[in-house]
Amino acid sequence: MKVQMKAKSYVSIAILMALFLVAGCGNKSEVTPSNSPSPTATVTASPSPIVNGGITPEATPTTPAAVTSKPSASPSASPAASTTPAKNGAIQVVAKPESITVLVNKMNSLPSSYEPTDLVYPNIAFTFTEKIEKRKMRQVAATAIEKLFAGASKDGIQLAGVSAYRSYATQKAVFQSYVKKDGEEKAKTYSAVPGTSEHETGLAIDVTGSNGKCAAEDCFGGTKEALWLEKHAAEYGFIVRYPQGKAAITGYQYEPWHLRYVGLDVAKEIQSKNLTLEEYYQTVPVAK
Ligand SMILES: [Zn+2]
Repeated sequence: MKVQMKAKSYVSIAILMALFLVAGCGNKSEVTPSNSPSPTATVTASPSPIVNGGITPEATPTTPAAVTSKPSASPSASPAASTTPAKNGAIQVVAKPESITVLVNKMNSLPSSYEPTDLVYPNIAFTFTEKIEKRKMRQVAATAIEKLFAGASKDGIQLAGVSAYRSYATQKAVFQSYVKKDGEEKAKTYSAVPGTSEHETGLAIDVTGSNGKCAAEDCFGGTKEALWLEKHAAEYGFIVRYPQGKAAITGYQYEPWHLRYVGLDVAKEIQSKNLTLEEYYQTVPVAK
């Protein structure tokens, strides 16, 4: 996400908005619309209340067979808690924002007051040199991303971080600037509502090749870096959070650059079964 937008970008954004389905993770893609009238955007929440949005068990799943497509949540993936079931289409605030496996998406928001307490600067290359907010990650994710980068390097793949943590305040400022410009309804179509960007967890990071090309852009897909990540991210506890062909479930088009730390066990299960985090928790699709 470029907080300061160049004037000329607005034209491009208008074009992008007309072309793309969803707003992603924060970088360029965040200014693309999430609810344009494409087929995949017509999926809405089911009539049943959302009961396990975002509330993630601290215990790792013990019932791997139960998490695919049954209508009811398996015990391990059921909500630990008890947020009030959301009305259809309403955004629900997650009960355990600090959980490593927290589900944050367009239907499940972090509390506005949430700020991770263990943010650090991972010792990896970024596409910029400043020590600023978007370089930070939570400690466990920072350690894991360092290992992932090192593992990639051993395989001849040189990665660079593009954008990691983003505070609620930053997301709010960005979103409000769009609201001011376009009104809230329109702003929601191309920018994440504060609290609903996964980058606010401190567990997500956008990465690219060390040449910096295609940073958080569609052209990253199919690169050797993207292919390596698809194959190996789970070995380090990360998932490619917005896989290809799952926009109707995640609410986001394919973002091969957006990694989310969920821990080794969950990551491996999600990868081996070709799931999304939403499917893992058996929540309703969030695309809208
Ligand atoms: Zn992202």
